[in-house]
Parts: sequence; structure tokens; C-alpha cells
Amino acid sequence: MAGMKILIVEDEPELRKSMVSYLSSEHYLCDEAADYKTALDKIESLDYDCILLDLGLPDGNGLAILRELKNNKKTEGVIIISAKDSIDDKITGLNLGADDYLSKPFHLSELGARVAAIIRRRNFEGSNLLQLNELTIDTAAKTISVHGTPVVLTRKEYDLLVYLVSNKNRVISKNAIAEHLTKDEADVFDNFDFIYAHIKNLKRKLTQAGCNDYIKTVYGMGYKFQTG
Ligand code: CA
Repeated sequence: MAGMKILIVEDEPELRKSMVSYLSSEHYLCDEAADYKTALDKIESLDYDCILLDLGLPDGNGLAILRELKNNKKTEGVIIISAKDSIDDKITGLNLGADDYLSKPFHLSELGARVAAIIRRRNFEGSNLLQLNELTIDTAAKTISVHGTPVVLTRKEYDLLVYLVSNKNRVISKNAIAEHLTKDEADVFDNFDFIYAHIKNLKRKLTQAGCNDYIKTVYGMGYKFQTG
């Protein structure tokens, strides 16, 4: 986790100092803001991996910073840190896109664990990579690889794979697959042969690349991407 940048927004000097000191010892790069105005300036000009946000600031409410992040489409991970252990604040904060919520007082080791979890999750989502054992799906580039080697799929095969993977370990009916694959087409299909053809080609391409044969036929029902 070295080199990750954290902004600590907290007006209580002692608490802020102890957070900076602890997180620095965990090799994070820490930046501080003691009030709303400073925090806003910093998030507007810099990008952080994680923001620790106190809600009760002398010159404003931390929730307004969350709104600002959201309006600016910023994707920083945010942990709300507040003495106000009110369910309203928590729900408002989470609705505004905060990733987690920590009530004061807290142990620094607990804070460290939460920060590490956010950064892990964000890096995974931020890279748009879906990793399933040897199979990697890049949902931004719409490409896949097996054991790190790219496998070329048609658009339909790719859509089918993502659909199966996002419903992994559940049986998906041929009807649902047909609707999914033709959702932006006017084509009327009178049988499911085209699904069978796509499944067969997809399975062949994956297994030839060294991927496990995860796609199982469930007779009379449909298909399942089975990982366990
Ligand atoms: Ca405060």
C-alpha cells in the first residue's frame, strides 16, 4: 500500500496528528485539512486514493464535501469519521457515495484496516478488471485474457461471457440469454440455435487458451458459469 495518498479532514489537532502519524507509519502519504475550506481546496486541485472525512468541521459540514466530490465525478474512496453516530448521517453519507463509516472513538488499527480495504476495493474497481482465477475481463476495454494472454472474442461472445460471469453459479435460462444478447436488435428469433453456437464458440476459445471449462450446460434449463 506504499505511495497511496490519503487526505485527512479533521479539525481536532490531536486526533488529526495521531491519524497522520499512524498512517504515515503504514507508508501512506498523508495530507491534512483542518477545516472545510482547506479540504475543498485540496480535493479540487489534487487526487487522493482515500479521504478520511470528519463531518463536524468548524466552517461547514463534511457531507458538503461528499456532494462536491460527487458533482465533480471524483472517485476517491471516502471513509466518514464522525462523533455524530447518527443513523441519518450514516445513511446520507453512504447515499452520497461514501464507502465506509467509522464512529469516534476508534482504534487506529481499525482505521488502518478500513483504509486498506477501501484502497484494495478501489484499485480493483478502478482498473475495471474482473479477475476469476486464470480469467481476466477488462470491462472498460471489453477484452479478456486467460493466464495473461489475450483471447479474441466476438462482441456477442464477450457479452455472453460477462452476462454468465455476473450471474456466476446461477443457472441462466436460454430465454434470458436470448433476450440479453438481442436486447438492442429488432431481430426476432425462432429458436435457440444461435445461443448454442455462441456458447460452443466461447467455450472452445476459452479452453483452447487454457481456461477451465467453467460454462456448464444444465440440461433442459440453460447454462451456468460454475466456479465452485
Ligand atoms: Ca470535528
